[in-house]
Amino acid sequence: MINKDNQSRKPKPPKPILYYYVIALLGVLLLNWIVLPYLMKPRVEEVGYSFFLDKIESNQIKTVQMEQNQILFISENGDGKQLYYKTGYVNDPELVSLLRAHGVEFGAVIPSQPNFFLNILLSYGIPILIIWWIGRRMSKSLGNKMGGGGLAFGGNTGKIYVPTGDKKTFNDVAGQEEAKEALTEVVDYLSHPERYTAIGAKCPKGVLLVGPPGTGKTLMAKAIAGEANVPFFSIAGSEFVEMFVGRGAARVRDLFEQAKKKAPCIVFIDEIDTIGKKRDGGLNTNDEREQTLNQLLTEMDGFEGDSGVIILAATNRPETLDPALLRPGRFDRQVPVELPDLKGRIAIFKVHAKNYKMATGIDFDLLGRATAGASGAEIANIVNEASLRAVRLGRSRVCQEDLEESIEVVIAGHQKKNAILSPEEKKVVSYHEIGHALVAAKQSNTAPIHKITIVPRTSGALGYTMQVEEDEKSLMTKTEAFNKMVTYCGGRAAEKIIFGEITTGASNDIEQVTKIARAMVTRFGMSDKFGMMALETNSNMYLGGDSTLTCSPKTSELVDREVKEMIESAYQRAVQILTDNKAKLHELAEFLFKEETITGAQFIEILNRESKYSA
Ligand code: ADP
Ligand code: MG
Ligand code: ZN
Repeated sequence: MINKDNQSRKPKPPKPILYYYVIALLGVLLLNWIVLPYLMKPRVEEVGYSFFLDKIESNQIKTVQMEQNQILFISENGDGKQLYYKTGYVNDPELVSLLRAHGVEFGAVIPSQPNFFLNILLSYGIPILIIWWIGRRMSKSLGNKMGGGGLAFGGNTGKIYVPTGDKKTFNDVAGQEEAKEALTEVVDYLSHPERYTAIGAKCPKGVLLVGPPGTGKTLMAKAIAGEANVPFFSIAGSEFVEMFVGRGAARVRDLFEQAKKKAPCIVFIDEIDTIGKKRDGGLNTNDEREQTLNQLLTEMDGFEGDSGVIILAATNRPETLDPALLRPGRFDRQVPVELPDLKGRIAIFKVHAKNYKMATGIDFDLLGRATAGASGAEIANIVNEASLRAVRLGRSRVCQEDLEESIEVVIAGHQKKNAILSPEEKKVVSYHEIGHALVAAKQSNTAPIHKITIVPRTSGALGYTMQVEEDEKSLMTKTEAFNKMVTYCGGRAAEKIIFGEITTGASNDIEQVTKIARAMVTRFGMSDKFGMMALETNSNMYLGGDSTLTCSPKTSELVDREVKEMIESAYQRAVQILTDNKAKLHELAEFLFKEETITGAQFIEILNRESKYSA
């Protein structure tokens, strides 16, 4: 391991420009010696002597060249195209006078070769020019990409992010107050370093922004560039390994060289996990990436904390990063950029609403409450969808309805595709959705609904229940978790009770309910059988991903059984609630079937009025 490290710390030297030119030159020579002669040699057709004589008589020959044992001649056909022929030499004393009589130039060299200098120019000059030109173009585009013009393949690396027209500031980043606070300090340090050095404080060298996708990490970095009046170098991790193999490490070196010259400044590496993955001895090691990472580590050690270069990086997979990157002196400070809470979501809605023409009196509070769990990027998308909808409907301003509708489109957008609902299906969907809502309403601790629709949407969802959390909770009690499961079971239970038959419509519910039950058993210690025993670890917390079982296969079997039992009892409870309130179930579902939409207020009204059915 140590050996390997030492080796790869020495990056391969970049191949010199000369190298590319030698290859190009070889290419040109090859072209000249083999390909061009073949292409340029005129095609000579072999014909009989009498054909030759015919051509002379019909005045179709321009030039004739007589050689030792063959006669070459060029004939011109009707449309001026030159054709090359050759024929055998025949001792014909009349030939000369015949040629003279028809005014043919003869004995001359066939003028297929232009003059010597032109020839050289054509066959060497032009290809070299072309190659030179391509080389220049490439170096230019490389240069532009990396910032600054400059030399071809050895060029510059970090692009200086210049906040131009769309300059971002902290005001554009809504919600992330903690992150902003942590970063304000960085900005402040860069603008008044003397304050810090006066008491001997050292600014962190590296700050790592971690959080799920779409929470505004990149945006935050841009905002820092806008806030701090210092040069800002930005590069994405993937760019290090992108174009020429073997260049990654050299790029890192160039980047830091530039940065040190421009200090105080900020270097921002987006998606650092592309280069910063744990180095392991495993099968899929990637030399290129390892070299780049090693170079980065060396560079970070190579300058002092007070040199004024601060390195920012962003990732949504901090757990995959190499521990060496995270140790003190490198990225020792992590700033979490989490999914926004209620207040954050409302603020993000407001920030984005500023860019659109909005109707007055938009209820941002409601929008925030209806989008629990949405990221900043999703909210930005929702607002944009709403504006598109407003245009589609011929409005000049975005109104509340557009926003609510697009929340459904964006959030329910990932459900199954289906065609138009037949009346029977519509009925099933009505009962299914009301089943969820009624169960939710009857359990004191679950969130009331805001709206249910069964209009099949372009996104494909058949029905959609928009839940609104009363207030944000970070902790969930066991009862709440169980109630949530019961609510998810409500749809299927309603189908079973009313139609005696079940449909595929509950697939998403089943997934959700299983997820909750599993988490309760394996991670939250909420089952009586296992108690506080961790049976699963979550390896990928920000990408909502994989968890790995940490128990024996036998226990895992028991876990499955426990999960099954929990789901079963949640289902039974849902059935119980719906059977007890069958009259209301009918009444509400009928309303939904007829109107296709039911709002929270209508729902409560029907729920609380005197029933017209008897159970
Ligand atoms: P990340 O880099 O974390 O994946 P981005 O910074 O690229 O996310 O965010 C994508 C878009 O989402 C931003 O351009 C912005 O429009 C919107 N966005 C995300 N978070 C926020 C936020 N906190 N405030 C305002 N807009 C946000
Ligand atoms: Mg990003
Ligand atoms: Zn359902």
